[in-house]
Order: sequence, then C-alpha cells, then structure tokens
Amino acid sequence: MVTGYGVFYTTLFKIQFVPLIRGMDMDALVVRDLHKRYGNIEAVKGVDFSVKEGEIFGLIGPNGAGKTSTLRMICTLLTLTSGSISVCGHDVSKEPDEVRKIISYLPEDAGAYKDLTGHNYLKFMAGFFADGAEAKAMVERGIAIADLGERIDSKVDTYSKGMMRRLLIARAIMPSPKIAVMDEVTSGLDVINAFEIREIIRNIAKSGVTVLISSHNMFEVDILCHRVAMINDGRVVLMGTPSDLKEQYGAQNLEEVFVKAVMD
Ligand code: ATP
Repeated sequence: MVTGYGVFYTTLFKIQFVPLIRGMDMDALVVRDLHKRYGNIEAVKGVDFSVKEGEIFGLIGPNGAGKTSTLRMICTLLTLTSGSISVCGHDVSKEPDEVRKIISYLPEDAGAYKDLTGHNYLKFMAGFFADGAEAKAMVERGIAIADLGERIDSKVDTYSKGMMRRLLIARAIMPSPKIAVMDEVTSGLDVINAFEIREIIRNIAKSGVTVLISSHNMFEVDILCHRVAMINDGRVVLMGTPSDLKEQYGAQNLEEVFVKAVMD
C-alpha cells in the first residue's frame, strides 16, 4: 500500500515535534444511525458520531455498552445490521476492500507469533502489504515505532506486556493507515509503558493519522483525546471535548462525568 505518510515515520518517533500535515477540518470517519444485532441482543442501537482528520477520538462507556461492536463494524470485521459508516469517503458495506487499505485495527487481545523475533514478525506482517523496497521501508518504520532497541531481535515470547504492545502498535501503524483504531490500547500496562504509548499515539495523530480508541481509563481519555463520545446501552449519550464535558456536568474529572452520565 502506498500513501503519502510513509516517509515521515523513520524520524517521527525520534523528534519531539512533527507538524500537522492536514488540518482538523475534514471528516475522516462518519458513523450514522449504526445498529448491530446478535440474535436477540441489540448491542448497538443507533450510534452517530464523526471524527475529523488527525483527531484523537475516544469511545468510553460501561462494559457491554457496544464499543467493541462499533469499532469492529468500522474496521469491516463485523457486518452492519443497519445504518452506515464512511471511512475517508468509502462506505464500509459497499467498499470494504478500499476501507481495509486505509484502516488498521488493534484489538485489545491481539498477540504476535511467539516463535518469531519482533523484527521477523514485522517482516512477516509487512509481506501482506508490500514487497521489495516498499516492504523494507515499512519494516524500518515499524522498528522505529516499536523503539525496542536490540530487543527487536529477541523472540516475541521473551517480551514483557509493554514490549509486546509496542510491537503490535508498530505492526498496526507501519503500513501508514489513514485511520488507526485501537481497543483498550494501554490496558494492563505500567505507568511508564502507558505514558510512552500515549506519546506514540500523539505522534501518530500529529503526522495526520486519525486515531479512534476505546478506553476504560478516564485519566487517559482526558489527557489524550481531543473529543470523546460516551456509549451507554448501545447509544451515544454524550459527546464533546473533555473540558466541555467536565464543564457541562460540573465535574472535576471525566470519571465523575462518566458516573453522572451512566446514573442519569
Ligand atoms: P467491554 O467494555 O466490556 O469490552 P463493549 O462496550 O466493547 O464492552 P461489546 O463487546 O460491543 O461491548 O458488546 C455489546 C453487547 O453485545 C454485549 O451485551 C455483548 O454481550 C454482546 N455481544 C458482543 N459480541 C457478541 C457476539 N458475538 N454474540 C452475541 N452477543 C455479543
């Protein structure tokens, strides 16, 4: 896959500031009246939201609210019961192959092949997207994003949880997607690893990639996301910037907003 962002990545994770190469004025993702039914269970009951290019957008909500179902429909991994999703102008139901070229998904429970080294895992995954010099450049970007030093040549089964997550983020971002979707990306990580992964996400967004995350960590959402939508029982019950939501609910933090919104 060839996109205009690729050349940025070699240096992206070594420097502090990367200018926005696109403004936050175009919708990269538009979700309209989205429904998902599993047999008798209506998991998603009419979700609407849109995400702008280069924005970091957070989905929050209680367990079972419908966040993962929504993310999986956006990434073409689940069919829509009804409604529509447009990813950079491509309809996920009508043009799933186009959507798959520009979106990457990192599930909460993702893993990597344990018998491979991190380096060989990135090479293996790059082979699905490109070959020759393009694949080589993709792997170099992956190595820079993972930033594991010499340990990139250690076997994956020797990696800590934090190292594994860095490798998986590198795998998700090295093909230079336009939209990166990450489910509970820092779940279970220590403070330093979570901090560094949030830095990686900020840098990804600064380079123009649109980022959609789900999280149960309200502190993380508050400091990382430009805007947030809260899903409760399959519907969006509030949406806005973290500071607007805190003001609206007269709350000190997003956790208080969350509790008040769920109890309402
Ligand atoms: P969590 O925060 O716990 O991950 P979530 O907000 O991501 O939850 P979903 O995983 O989307 O919520 O689940 C929404 C509802 O759909 C739940 O009631 C869940 O049990 C149900 N559900 C999800 N996947 C399936 C499935 N494959 N078959 C049947 N029901 C499902």
